[in-house]
Amino acid sequence: MIKKNDILEVGIIDLSNEGFGVAKVDGFTVFVESALVNERVQIKIVKVLKRYAIAIIDELIEASKDRVDIKDHLGTITGTMPLQHMTYDAQLKFKQTQVENYLSNKTDLSDVEVYKIKGMSNPWEYRNKAQIPVKMVDGILTTGFYRRRSHDLIPVENFHIQDPRIDESILKVRDILRDYEIEAYDETKQTGLIRHIIVRQAQHREDQMIILVTNSEKPLDQNLVADIVNAVPNLVSLVQNINTDNTNRITGNKKIVHYGQDYYEDKLFGMDFKISSQSFFQVNSDQTEVLYQTALDFSNVGKEDVVMDAYSGIGTISLIMAQAAKHVYGVEMIKEAVMMAKENAVINDIDNTSFVTALAEDYMKKFIQSKNIDALVVDPPRKGLHPAFIQSVLEARPDRIVYVSCNPKTLARDVDLLSDLYTLKKVQPVDMFPQTLHVETVSLLEKKKF
Ligand code: SAH
Repeated sequence: MIKKNDILEVGIIDLSNEGFGVAKVDGFTVFVESALVNERVQIKIVKVLKRYAIAIIDELIEASKDRVDIKDHLGTITGTMPLQHMTYDAQLKFKQTQVENYLSNKTDLSDVEVYKIKGMSNPWEYRNKAQIPVKMVDGILTTGFYRRRSHDLIPVENFHIQDPRIDESILKVRDILRDYEIEAYDETKQTGLIRHIIVRQAQHREDQMIILVTNSEKPLDQNLVADIVNAVPNLVSLVQNINTDNTNRITGNKKIVHYGQDYYEDKLFGMDFKISSQSFFQVNSDQTEVLYQTALDFSNVGKEDVVMDAYSGIGTISLIMAQAAKHVYGVEMIKEAVMMAKENAVINDIDNTSFVTALAEDYMKKFIQSKNIDALVVDPPRKGLHPAFIQSVLEARPDRIVYVSCNPKTLARDVDLLSDLYTLKKVQPVDMFPQTLHVETVSLLEKKKF
């Protein structure tokens, strides 16, 4: 039996969905961090569980041609860049295979057009948003990221995958918080003030939003606010978000706007979007245009078509579709996002959209009693579609469904649940998150003709 700290030489035979190299030792599975297929490695076992063990590379004996020098070891140990040791081409192949594997477990892909994944020309510094945990490390307020599967904070100054203007602001805010001797939140003792620093950077303007998440309702010191405003010249919004719960959720529901408004503005497809502090906005702006253009093309909507955009956020997909469609109905559970969507329709002179605050699964059920849907667009969170939502879709029977998914596993499940009435026609993977394991897809499902 293998034990912790054993040193062994193995060959890597596969890559797991978590991006670990897979080896077998006397039939027992070992997952090796940062190892690639066909590599020979000397490994050190770090953890032994019932069905598998976890190991790190002790010495690389034969390297794969897909291996590249890593940018920063911190990105591996914190899990912010778990694929950075792979060439970008190999990362794209890995994601393509992952999408195909999940789907083919549930669906026959022989008649489905699965297109080649669309990657980025520069797969670095692409994020427009960062949520950075803050903790006292050796008595000093520190920003960085947690070591994988732990709450030990590793100091990180350059994240490499986010807009460098975000890294700069995090360090400025960190230094100002240090000057004021502010304590970071301690989750075990539940003491201290600052929990997270969130920075959102517009990509078509200089504008930046900073959100400080605090463990207290007490407004931030006004001198501290003034120092941050002075230090960050392109700041358009400084918000204190209050989260006094002992939870892993990053933000709470209350907030105080200390500077500017509770939103910043950016552009997509030449349209203006107001994005509030609590609203979802895709983190990779360049690839979002690729993703939504594909959704628009797949939907094939025309002037006669009524479209439902479920999980509509601040209305990005709805407003893009509205230019081609007769009318678009958006449904989204976060009230503030729905308010933004309505405003975004107005500022872009779009008058054929309606937005509702509701759970998609509840609204869909009511909606289909009175109205017909030609095309349905869904863009759900990782857990995928709610069973009641799927039930309503099967009753409403729109001609086509465009499914934007950030999780191929739940996509595959939902495609299968719709398969009595719908055929999967096209799948376009898009790499929204280079250096990480995440993969986004747009799929087209068409109603079967009986
Ligand atoms: N289409 C938007 C948002 C996609 S993110 C865009 O591309 O920007 C998913 C959205 O679904 C989030 O805004 C989230 O608040 C919302 N959401 C999650 N569960 C929901 C549910 N059950 N009903 C309605 N909206 C939901």
